[in-house]
Amino acid sequence: MKLLVTGGAGYVGSVCAARLVEAGHEVVVVDDLSTGHADAIPDGCKFVEADVSTAASELLSEPFDGVLHFAAKSLVGESMQDPQKYWQGNVVTSLRLLDAMREHGTPRLVFSSTAATYGEPEVTPITEDTATRPTNTYGATKLAIDHAITSYAAAHGIGAVSLRYFNVAGAHGAFGERHTVETHLIPIVLQVALGQREQVQIFGEDWPTADGTCIRDYIHVTDLADAHLLALESAAPGQHRIYNLGNGTGFSVKQVIDTCREVTGHPIPAKVAPRRAGDPATLVASSQRAREELGWTPQRADLEVIVRDAWEFTRQRQGS
Ligand code: UDP
Repeated sequence: MKLLVTGGAGYVGSVCAARLVEAGHEVVVVDDLSTGHADAIPDGCKFVEADVSTAASELLSEPFDGVLHFAAKSLVGESMQDPQKYWQGNVVTSLRLLDAMREHGTPRLVFSSTAATYGEPEVTPITEDTATRPTNTYGATKLAIDHAITSYAAAHGIGAVSLRYFNVAGAHGAFGERHTVETHLIPIVLQVALGQREQVQIFGEDWPTADGTCIRDYIHVTDLADAHLLALESAAPGQHRIYNLGNGTGFSVKQVIDTCREVTGHPIPAKVAPRRAGDPATLVASSQRAREELGWTPQRADLEVIVRDAWEFTRQRQGS
């Protein structure tokens, strides 16, 4: 297939673009490099440096078989302080992309959605039928886009799939996480092992969990990318399907730090800090629907494998 990958210079976008190229697809990456890195774009992709909202219509005037839409603003804290950046950058940009797809009859869309659309659910594990009550602007914008996709798919025959990611981690060879502002647990812990930080802060030890620290569902970025390929193949005209992507197993912050200690051989000092605003105690996915309907089976669900691949990537980058 000939595919447009928006945000293909970012973490998940670059891994998916690499997987698509490996699978023999023709890939055009569009990215404004506001948070992505040009050298993260996999070999074999054509690259257009542009803002999706202004470039989509012209790009899609050439026939494409589908779009994988990753380009987005994705910092929860920033989304609360600067909502305009998120409503504009996520919702308005996605509407322009949908309009361009409608205008040119692009048949398939795979959208990078998030567990943040659910907010603080009362049930665990979270299924796709769990109520969506986002607690931050980032999650609200992603949910708004999901609603828009549902309408466009029904009215204009687009075959669409939204994938709601839980905690994406790990690396796919030379493609991994390189955020300028790092807020995620595993890369922060690995920065301590590399000597770039003195210690990791544990945000709260008084949560209603077995060891008192928050529980999250970590999914390997390569498994996540594989789900995108399956989603693309399964997209059915006029339908919008939504799938959670996680391993269905939760690990606490302390368990993550312990695994990082085992993998890196570094003592990784940790200090308990106050809770971080907006953090739910436990977020674990049921990905039953993705397994049944997409035939997706995560191959790298082991936390040690996830951390080992992230560590390998981090050390390679440090040496380069
Ligand atoms: N966390 C932490 N210290 C850090 C970063 C994160 O204790 O320096 C915790 C955070 O409170 C959450 C979990 O690690 O419970 C995962 O956070 P992350 O930001 O990686 O992902 P999120 O679940 O917020 O999307």
